[in-house]
Amino acid sequence: MCGLTTQGRFVPCSSFFPVNRHVLRSFGAVLSTAFSPDRVTNTTGARFRGIGSLNTKKFSSQIVSDVLSANDIVGVIAGYLELKPAGTARFKALCPFHNEKTPSFTVSRDRQIYYCFGCEKHGDAINFLQEYEGLTFYEALRKLADRVGIRLPATTERDNKDEFLRTQLIELNKFAQAHFAQVLDDPLKGSACRHYMKTRSLKQETTKKFGLGYAPDGWSVLLEKARAAGFKDTVLESSGLVKHGERGSLYDVFRNRLMIPIRDVSGNIVAFGGRDLGDATPKYINSPENALYKKSRILYGLFEARDTMKKEKRAILVEGYFDLMRCFDAGIDNVVASCGTALTPEQAALIHRYVREVVVVFDADAAGIRAAIRGVGVLANAGLTVRAMTLPDGKDPDDYIKAHSSAEFRQLVDNAADLITFYIAANAQNTATIEGRTGLARDLFGLIAVISDPLQRDEYLKLAAASLRLDYWRCRDEFTQFVREQQARQQRPTTTLAKSADVAKNASFTQHDRDFIAAVLSNETLVDKAQETLKDVPLPAGPVGEILRALFDGAGADVARRLDSDEARDLYAAAATGRELAPDVAQRLVAQRIARFVKQARVAEAAAIQQQLQDAQRANDQGRALELMSKKIALERKIANAL
Ligand SMILES: [Zn+2]
Repeated sequence: MCGLTTQGRFVPCSSFFPVNRHVLRSFGAVLSTAFSPDRVTNTTGARFRGIGSLNTKKFSSQIVSDVLSANDIVGVIAGYLELKPAGTARFKALCPFHNEKTPSFTVSRDRQIYYCFGCEKHGDAINFLQEYEGLTFYEALRKLADRVGIRLPATTERDNKDEFLRTQLIELNKFAQAHFAQVLDDPLKGSACRHYMKTRSLKQETTKKFGLGYAPDGWSVLLEKARAAGFKDTVLESSGLVKHGERGSLYDVFRNRLMIPIRDVSGNIVAFGGRDLGDATPKYINSPENALYKKSRILYGLFEARDTMKKEKRAILVEGYFDLMRCFDAGIDNVVASCGTALTPEQAALIHRYVREVVVVFDADAAGIRAAIRGVGVLANAGLTVRAMTLPDGKDPDDYIKAHSSAEFRQLVDNAADLITFYIAANAQNTATIEGRTGLARDLFGLIAVISDPLQRDEYLKLAAASLRLDYWRCRDEFTQFVREQQARQQRPTTTLAKSADVAKNASFTQHDRDFIAAVLSNETLVDKAQETLKDVPLPAGPVGEILRALFDGAGADVARRLDSDEARDLYAAAATGRELAPDVAQRLVAQRIARFVKQARVAEAAAIQQQLQDAQRANDQGRALELMSKKIALERKIANAL
């Protein structure tokens, strides 16, 4: 009936249909108790997720709508994925967000949304960029605006503190990079660093591509220059380029260091790695995490490597900055670097957006490999096929390519072994004894357990058993036991969570709801017809009502964005990309469902009147009782006629 919007605002019934004031008052009382502050907070909290996040609020919905209308989602997504036509105004692709062999990622040109039938990710063009490129709402909006030449109003500190700080940090890092590069080029000030760079023997082109620079020895070189350029101390401090000394004054963190800019996937400099040129320890220091830089979501070199990765359908993962730059220097451009930190699921997912195969180059000894290989499980878990290799004589890629050639390196990469074979070979010294071999088998179980494809898993298990000269069936039993124990240990909370999410999802809409919304969407005149019929009827609570309300407010590219609840967005996406309905079927579905809404609304209204009638009778208010009775009769007539 009367509604509470997801912002917790009470929408009076009178905005839907004229009603007796007493009815309104009694509903107001019910609502104020039924929706406790907790409940309001929870529903409001939902706005932070996905479409319609809080950020949306700083731009008028008109701007968002304009940007969305000017960018055809098919064109936007085609810039990232290979879209294949599937029916009128529909396209399919392999989903970039989950691992699949047959395409279930659907893009609808009519509705300007995408929806994956496999993992249920969905949204409009802005959501796609947020999800795919890891951008914030504002960055995605700006990118789409730039794409079609729409000028967005500038962000100010008052509008959005976080976004403003991020923008300032990007500006500052850009400024700092230009400064460091200029010092490196300076005939006098940069000579020490240029001397060091000579020992690295990288081409000028490569050092320029990666924007290398030099932070000279001095306590406030960058600080003063940045202040003079108008950067505030607060921004300077949060960048981590300067910090407070004991006496409270600020000083440069990076001194006498070769500066390596670290970019995000869109090419913004988000941090710096600094290599010491003297004998200071540690040899490398990195910018700290801040509003802009989240270590777990950045892979060094990905911005530069991503196009070639896509082309070659493979990524090479190395450890250090210079391993990566050496590869690029030698014309191998599909390389990313972990830079000494353990790989995170976010980083693995980043790689998975562009390729399905990774070759990991270890430059550790057997003991190091034993430790490092566990981290590789994260890659397999993200759905990547992982192969691994080490270079002869314990060399790292930098040394190896310098000493040999890029062709030889490429050949080693081409011939890299699968993870199982690699691991057994790297631990060859342990394969002499039964204990050694069973120990290795158990190490491998951990790696095999994360592979999601059961067939592939079994093949790996066979391979492990054969290579270790163990009985396959015995191995299989042990492995099953291992997985069971692992699940019992780790996955209990996840399973419960997944289960409750499933229940929520199942409860939010039915097949009938989906078909009904699909039917309404199939033809604009059906929307008009529904609006006309329902103009005096309160829309039902829940996702169906929410979508109808949004459609009645005006169709367009941004309908999905005007939906507040996740349930409504899920339903909208499922309906807009689901099976197409024949026109007569759609018409019948809409007519039936709308008749039901009208009836339900009347029945509810009658029940409310009945309740008030009882109250009036109890209070002995004859006049009011009569008034209500006549209303009730008129309503009952309407209901009977509708049947
Ligand atoms: Zn998917």
